[in-house]
Amino acid sequence: MIRLPRPDRDHLADLDLAMSRRRPSSRRVLLGARTGIINAYGDYEDVLRDIRQFTSLANGSEVLTKALLGNYALLDRGRPLEDLRNSIFLTALSRNSRCPLCERAQVCALDHFLPKNHFPEYAILADNLIPVCERCNRLKGDECDRADGLLMFHAYFDEFPDTEMLFTEIDVNDTVSIRYSLHHADEIDDFTFGRVEKQFEILGLFDFYQMEAVAELTDQVDLYDETYDSFGDSGLRSTLSALARGAERKGINHWKAALYRALSRNAEFCSGGYRKLLATPMS
Ligand SMILES: [Zn+2]
Repeated sequence: MIRLPRPDRDHLADLDLAMSRRRPSSRRVLLGARTGIINAYGDYEDVLRDIRQFTSLANGSEVLTKALLGNYALLDRGRPLEDLRNSIFLTALSRNSRCPLCERAQVCALDHFLPKNHFPEYAILADNLIPVCERCNRLKGDECDRADGLLMFHAYFDEFPDTEMLFTEIDVNDTVSIRYSLHHADEIDDFTFGRVEKQFEILGLFDFYQMEAVAELTDQVDLYDETYDSFGDSGLRSTLSALARGAERKGINHWKAALYRALSRNAEFCSGGYRKLLATPMS
């Protein structure tokens, strides 16, 4: 997971601008709830720490829920809060960031970390809006399990563990098969590991990385051939280790780091078995 800088926004100014641009009936409802919304903004990090203790300010009030959700449309192009949306995307794009959830695709959507249908008071809170890719946005959806208290990792507030957890198993037979898995290291507490597992499960990351890995490696067979012909298996091994080190700069658990670490240690793959990649089905 990629850590992103928190958006640099004046949350109250965003809220007041939104309220000033609403129809009188919605504005009245929102003005009546303004203190509650500001308090909820102040509680945001506490909610992230233990969501089981919090229910939405709008819980049970359809009128307030509707009024709060209506603010979000003001972020659309040409609307008063377009600048809020743009500033969040600009921060991600200026760092050439991939989607913080899958670390693969380009960002193109805003995800409400605490889903707006469960916590409409955070519908336009910049800290709750994370730039993500289309796939992750769709898969995460309204995910917010208050029963077990396990939230996914928050790109602005959570540090993803930097202990090795993601492993790749390589099997070279008629084809090269690649399988990702998570291992619970002793240094990681159960709660944190539960969040990691949840993230992988909801975003379908094992299968996603497996497919991405096959596609990436298949493109490199000619490069492996040249390296192997000139420098033998030790040459190929060092090339793969260098690729692993490069990927580790993005994080020890980056899917490419786990992939190249495993490949560089696989004797069969490095002694010509990589050619079996061409026989690997793409799904
Ligand atoms: Zn993604």
